[in-house]
Amino acid sequence: MKKTLFWITKNKQIQCQLCNHYCLISEGQTGICAVRKNIKGQLYSLVYGKVIAENIDPIEKKPLFHFLPGSLSYSIATVGCNFKCLHCQNADISQYPIDEQLKDENFVPGKEITPEEIVRKAKKAKCESIAYTYTEPTIYAEFALACMKLAKKAGLKNVWVSNGYTAKEAWPKLLPYLNAINVDLKFFNNETYLKICGAKLQPILDNLKFLKKNKIWLEITTLIIPDLNDSEEELLSIAKFIKNELGAETPWHVSRFFPQYKLKDQNPTDEEIIHKAYALGKEIGLKYVYAGNIVSDIHENTYCPNCNRLVIRRTGYNIDKFDKNDHCPKCNTKIDLILK
Ligand code: SF4
Ligand code: SF4
Repeated sequence: MKKTLFWITKNKQIQCQLCNHYCLISEGQTGICAVRKNIKGQLYSLVYGKVIAENIDPIEKKPLFHFLPGSLSYSIATVGCNFKCLHCQNADISQYPIDEQLKDENFVPGKEITPEEIVRKAKKAKCESIAYTYTEPTIYAEFALACMKLAKKAGLKNVWVSNGYTAKEAWPKLLPYLNAINVDLKFFNNETYLKICGAKLQPILDNLKFLKKNKIWLEITTLIIPDLNDSEEELLSIAKFIKNELGAETPWHVSRFFPQYKLKDQNPTDEEIIHKAYALGKEIGLKYVYAGNIVSDIHENTYCPNCNRLVIRRTGYNIDKFDKNDHCPKCNTKIDLILK
C-alpha cells in the first residue's frame, strides 16, 4: 500500500484525478476501480508493487506491430481496472477487486516486487521494453511510473496497453516516460460504452488526439462484437476518426470476439465481418490495418502503403520475414516503423 499522486481534496472528500471517472471518495471508501482508498484523508494505492501477472511476451502480442517489431516486452499487471467490460478476457484479474469485494489491503493478490527487480528481470530476459498490460495500467499508475523511470534510465522503452481513460491531470507525469501505447477504441457510441464498459466515449477520443499530438507512438484496437459494433456505419465511423483525427499512419487492429465473462451467451464474430472491417479500413485510406483472432494470417502482415510489397510477414505473434529496414525494399517508401 502506498500513498498516491493524482488527487485533490474537495468538500471533505478526496477527488481522484487519475482517470476520467474523477471519483469522489469518502473516508474508508475506494473509487470505482476499487484499488484506490481514502484512509484518513489520504489516497492510497492498494496494488502498488503487487504484481499479479508477469510474462515475457513478443511485443506483437500487445498488439504493437510497428514499435520495435520482433522484440520482447516484459509484461506486467496488478489486479483492477476502471472499466467493467462485460466481455473482458482478463476479468479474473481486472475485475477481481470488484467481484471479490476487495475491502482490505491485506488481501490484495499479487507478488510483492520492486520496480528495480522488474527492470533487472526485463534486462536479464533481453526484453527491449516493459509493457504495462493485461489490466489497466492507469489504475496502478504510481507503480508503473516508478518502473518507467528506472526502465528509461536502463535503456528500456515503456509501452502501455490501455482503455484510454487516463485523466488529463495525470498525463504530464507519465508522458515523459511513455514511448508507445495501444488503446482500445471499443465502440463509437456513448450508450454502448456506458452499457458494456461503464465509461464514456468522449474522454477516450480526446485522449487519442492528445497522445498523437504528443508524439507517443499509437496503435488502435477494436474488438468487433456481433450486434454491438459490427455495423458498417459504426466501423466506418471508427476508421474515419482514426484517419482524420489521428492520421492514416496509425495502425488499426480489428479482432474477432469470442464469448467471454458476462457475454458468454453472445455468438463469436463471423470471420466475414472481420474481413469486411479490414477492407473498409483500407478503403478509407488507413495505411496499416490488421485482423486478429481469425484463421488466416494474411491480414497480419505489413505491406508497403505505396506499392503493396510485403514488408513484414507474421504468423501469429512471430515475425517470419523482415529485414529490419523502415523503407520499402521495392519502391523505397518510408514505412512507419519505430526500430530503436
Ligand atoms: S483511478 Fe479512476 S476509477 Fe480509480 S479511483 Fe481514480 S478516478 Fe476512480
Ligand atoms: S478495459 Fe480492458 S482490462 Fe478493463 S475491463 Fe475492459 S477489457 Fe478488461
